[in-house]
Order: sequence, then structure tokens, then C-alpha cells
Amino acid sequence: MHHGKLCDRELYRDDNKCLCHSEREDKDAEDFQSELDEIFADESAEYFDLTRFVFPERGWRLPKEIKKDVHFGAVKFLGAAYIGGTHFSGRAYFIGTEFLGQAHFEMVSFVGEARFRWAQFFGKTTFSQTEFMQKADFKWLDFKGDGAIGFANMSLDNCLFIGTDCSRLKFVNVTWPIRRTLWGRKFFFRRAVADELNPEQKDWEGVADLYADLERHYLDRSRHQEANAFYIGQQDVLRKVNRSFRYWLANRLYRLFSVYGVSYVRPLLWLAAMLLLFPLVFIRTGINFGRVSGYYYGRSLSWDMYWDAVALNLSFVTFGRGEIADYLTEPWQRAIVSLETLFALVLVTFLVLALRRLFRRRTV
Ligand SMILES: [Zn+2]
Repeated sequence: MHHGKLCDRELYRDDNKCLCHSEREDKDAEDFQSELDEIFADESAEYFDLTRFVFPERGWRLPKEIKKDVHFGAVKFLGAAYIGGTHFSGRAYFIGTEFLGQAHFEMVSFVGEARFRWAQFFGKTTFSQTEFMQKADFKWLDFKGDGAIGFANMSLDNCLFIGTDCSRLKFVNVTWPIRRTLWGRKFFFRRAVADELNPEQKDWEGVADLYADLERHYLDRSRHQEANAFYIGQQDVLRKVNRSFRYWLANRLYRLFSVYGVSYVRPLLWLAAMLLLFPLVFIRTGINFGRVSGYYYGRSLSWDMYWDAVALNLSFVTFGRGEIADYLTEPWQRAIVSLETLFALVLVTFLVLALRRLFRRRTV
């Protein structure tokens, strides 16, 4: 504990601190409010310094607009903190702040950065229709007793959560930032957290843990869409944690063919692509249709010929393997069919696993 003087103000009664810093619960709220008014009226101040202030249980309010940076670092709010509706024009620091009661940040707009890192929450705290125009740091929050935070009707585009226990958070009608997953292409995206998109991010293990935590959070509420998105996010980020080539390759292929076992559409699309494209290869390089329809290779492509080739290819991959040599004369063509069969087996496995996952989650 710091025993030096916190400020130059007069000592309060028999306390060894001033009125603003005094922890006495019976301190005069009206006098405290006049001190606050005086601080916020100071046009010459570089920033408003309320560091280590102790806000009495009731009887104080903040101005509607706080026009400069403001420091609430290590402040103690002994009662409920009603901050709703305030407009912070500069940065706002609540680093290590102790909210001993509820805290209300409804309809607050933060034009500058907002930092709540290491803040302690003992009661229910609400951010609703709160606007963060710059980074909002909710990292390593500390929850005591019933401490919990609800985020409602707002965007989390700028909110950082690494290290914070997501089981103490509640999300109602929030929008998560979007991460484009294919070189910025329009149709390939997923939900993300701002921590992953933060260009200064280095703690990828922290981001992966955060995603695992958020997946659990949404699973507990049967919100499978979000849970899946955060699971995929975690797997994507793990590629940055495990940097071996083997891991990278396995991860990449698993994502490409089944989106880490989440998507049943993806293996179906690959199956369809394979079964529809390889017949073209066979037609181009020679396929002997024999008895099937009387076509022979070398003739110009027609739809009938194409569908015949598709049907033949499908039967090679599934059962009619014995007569393959009658139709495909080149050994490499038959090797391709073997690879197709193997690939189809893998894709069907992915398909079954994804469906199983889907039904498990729907019923458990
Ligand atoms: Zn003081």
C-alpha cells in the first residue's frame, strides 16, 4: 500500500487523506460533488485526474460530457456507479478500478480509447447501446462475488477480451467483428473477436483460449452457430500457435475439406466436384464406352456422352471395379480412379462426422 500523499488537497477531518481519497463511508457527498465539478470545469488541465478517488455510495454524478482524457485508475466506487449517458470525448481509463456495486454504462459513448483492464467487478454491470469508437480493453477483468457483465444491443468490433473469464459475461443482441477468411473475398467470413483482428496481437495462445472459452459459453446456451464460429476461430488461430509444417498442412487440409469437421456441405461439394470433373478428364484422354452406349473416344463432346462418363466414373468409384480395364485403357487413368475412391472415402467420413456432430449438438 502506498503511504505517500496522493494529492495536495487538504486532509479530510481526522483522516490522513483528502476528501476525494478518503475511504470513510460517511464522507460528505455534497462536498465530494463540488470537488468533482471543480475538476471537470478546469479548462487548463491536461487531463482529468481522479486516480485512486473513492466515490461515496450515492450522491454524485458525472457531467454529461467529459471533454478530455480522464483517469479513473484504481478508483473505488463504494456504491452503484451510474455512468449511463455520459459522453467521453477523450480517452477513459478504468484500469484496476473497483466497482463494489452495480455499474451502469448504458448509452455511453467513448470517442477515445477505453481501458477496463484488471478492473474488479463485484456486482452486475451493464453495457447497453454503448459505443466504443476506439479500442475498448476488457482484458484480464477480475470478478468477485456476483460480479458479471452484460453486453447488449451493441457492436463488439473494438472490444478486447483476452484473459477474461467469459462465463461471467453475457451477450445479448451483440454483433461480433467479421473476419474474411479467403484473401478478403466477400462470401468467405466468420465471426471473430477483436483480439484476433488486432494488428498488434502477439498472444495467439491467449486468443485461442478466448475462442475455446467463448465456444463453451455459447454451447451452454445452445447457440450452435456462434459456438461453431468460435470453434473454427480457435482452430484457425492454433495454426499460429503450433508452427510445425505437419500441423499446418493437416490443419489446412482439414479446414479445406470439412471446415474442421463442422461443415457437412463442404465434403458434399468436394464429392460433387470430384465426381463431375474427372469424367471430363477421361473423355479428353480417351474412354471406351463399349457396350454401354456405343460411343467411342475421339468423338465430339455431347451431354449424353458426358452423363454416360459421369455414370461410369461413379460406378468405378463405388462398385463396378472389376471391368475398369474395359473402359479405361491407360494405367494412369485407373490410378486416378483408385485415388478418387480413396478421396471419396475420406470425404464420406468427414460428412458422417459432421452430421454426427450436428445431431449430437441438437440433442444434447
Ligand atoms: Zn487526495
